[in-house]
Amino acid sequence: MIGAGLGGLATAIRLAASGYDVTVFDSGPGPGGKANSRRLGPYRFDTGPSLFTMKPVFERLFAAAGRRLEDYLTLIPLDEICRYFWSDGTRARTFANEESIVEEFKRVFGEPPEHIDRYLRYSRRIHDITAHLFLDHSLHEWSTVRAPGFLRSLFQVHRIDAFRTMAQAHRRFFRDPRLQQLFNRYATYNGSDPHRAPATFNIIPHVEYGIGAWAVEGGIRAVPLAMERLARELGVTFRYGERVDRIVTDRIGPARPRGKRVVRGVRTDQGEFSAEIVVSNADVTVTYRDLLEDERERAFRRYSRMEPSSSGIVFLWGVRGIHRELGLHNILFSQDYREEFRDIFNRRRMPEDPTIYINITSRNGAPRDAPVDGENWFVLVNAPCDSGQDWRNEAERTRQAVIERVQGELGIDLSGRIREEACMTPDEIEALTGATRGSLYGISSNSRSAAFRRHPNRSRRYRGLYFAGGSAHPGGGMPLVVSGGAIVADLVSRYHPCTDLPE
Ligand SMILES: Cc1cc2nc3c(=O)[nH]c(=O)nc-3n(C[C@H](O)[C@H](O)[C@H](O)COP(=O)(O)OP(=O)(O)OC[C@H]3O[C@@H](n4cnc5c(N)ncnc54)[C@H](O)[C@@H]3O)c2cc1C
Repeated sequence: MIGAGLGGLATAIRLAASGYDVTVFDSGPGPGGKANSRRLGPYRFDTGPSLFTMKPVFERLFAAAGRRLEDYLTLIPLDEICRYFWSDGTRARTFANEESIVEEFKRVFGEPPEHIDRYLRYSRRIHDITAHLFLDHSLHEWSTVRAPGFLRSLFQVHRIDAFRTMAQAHRRFFRDPRLQQLFNRYATYNGSDPHRAPATFNIIPHVEYGIGAWAVEGGIRAVPLAMERLARELGVTFRYGERVDRIVTDRIGPARPRGKRVVRGVRTDQGEFSAEIVVSNADVTVTYRDLLEDERERAFRRYSRMEPSSSGIVFLWGVRGIHRELGLHNILFSQDYREEFRDIFNRRRMPEDPTIYINITSRNGAPRDAPVDGENWFVLVNAPCDSGQDWRNEAERTRQAVIERVQGELGIDLSGRIREEACMTPDEIEALTGATRGSLYGISSNSRSAAFRRHPNRSRRYRGLYFAGGSAHPGGGMPLVVSGGAIVADLVSRYHPCTDLPE
């Protein structure tokens, strides 16, 4: 296994639980990949994902190894999920409870309850039709067609709203532009533009309000740590600080036309390790380019031409004072959402007036993340992927914009209150996590076909090579890469059955 990101860990757990002998190499110092953390003085920060959803995906992972998630991870169900702020003074909250959502949106936006109800039912319907189809199966194997429920889902495909964009759907559902903006925001959960992403992604509100959201005791960092603990119990070996620089392969059959190859193992600076199966949790592009030196491979060429998901500028601020107007998750919306996304995806520049996300884990689930008189602010502003922008300048400009907006809209004067500080820009995110151009979620979902064009989990050209992680099917985001681990383990057991069954 190359990489101990969440997708790599999930795959390692599943394979080890099925009796495979698994060794994980990671160039970093520990597990988690993007789900990492950092300490600045008395403040601790998660530096990647911050919202925990789709708990059943994690429960199934632990259950596959005969364990209970709650014995490894303490999850605190959230009643209130997020606080939203607009520059005109409007404030709204979302809840993991559909009745409270209806009540709140009626109170704040005057939206008739039946409109909200209708939307929530629509979101649930998309979930019920698609979740099983996309999250539990490879979309690139004929055998998927025979999977229980596949054909039923396929025959309902006209009911998943794939032919309009998220924003078009929201204009039809809601009168109030602020409410449309709130729901459009869910496109950013996979780094996409709501004005281009298919309305099928309107599944996400159901995931949040219907299934729920949780705070994690100890912060999101506790998630990869729990997964690593389970993997070790199952006998997985971890080799940190050891970069794989080559996937070793042999040719099978004639050299021309470009013949198939079989994997033989991996090479690191410590030597060569033989293996019949190699799972790459590294970015797909990086795997072909750096580990296989196969930039002529068709899948690579197709993949590397696809539009990456958005990146971000992250500020980690250890702030003095307790700010009761903020919750665990907070959004300060921009005034022109369409222009913001045009800046990010078309003009590839930082928006002048960005939407600002502030996550404060010391508020809920991780009180030790900040001193009693302070808060740990993780501030994320969506950004274009790296294409050589002057990030130092962009970060400085964005920092100023955030401070002014926080002052203007929340009345919080941050000058002199930021005790500790660090920043990550898209080029640094790439350097730290190996994500191509700093994209947070692999490729964007800015087209109807994106879900089908993600890289398959099994290589056709390299026998024994599999892909797990945000740049392969089913895509980026914590629950998706963990679901991807189950898909990969299933494919491995089909194409490389384990002879060494666990007791
Ligand atoms: C700032 C930020 C905010 C985010 N917010 C959210 C959120 O709120 N909710 C959400 O669900 N998702 C969020 N995400 C996305 C989420 O973090 C990712 O989709 C997910 O963690 C990716 O997991 P992965 O399995 O693809 O592995 P990655 O996290 O990409 O890890 C890959 C691992 O492979 C290792 N590796 C790569 N190449 C090699 C090599 N040659 N040799 C050895 N090791 C190698 C790397 O060191 C790394 O540890 C966010 C991401 C970021 C960066």
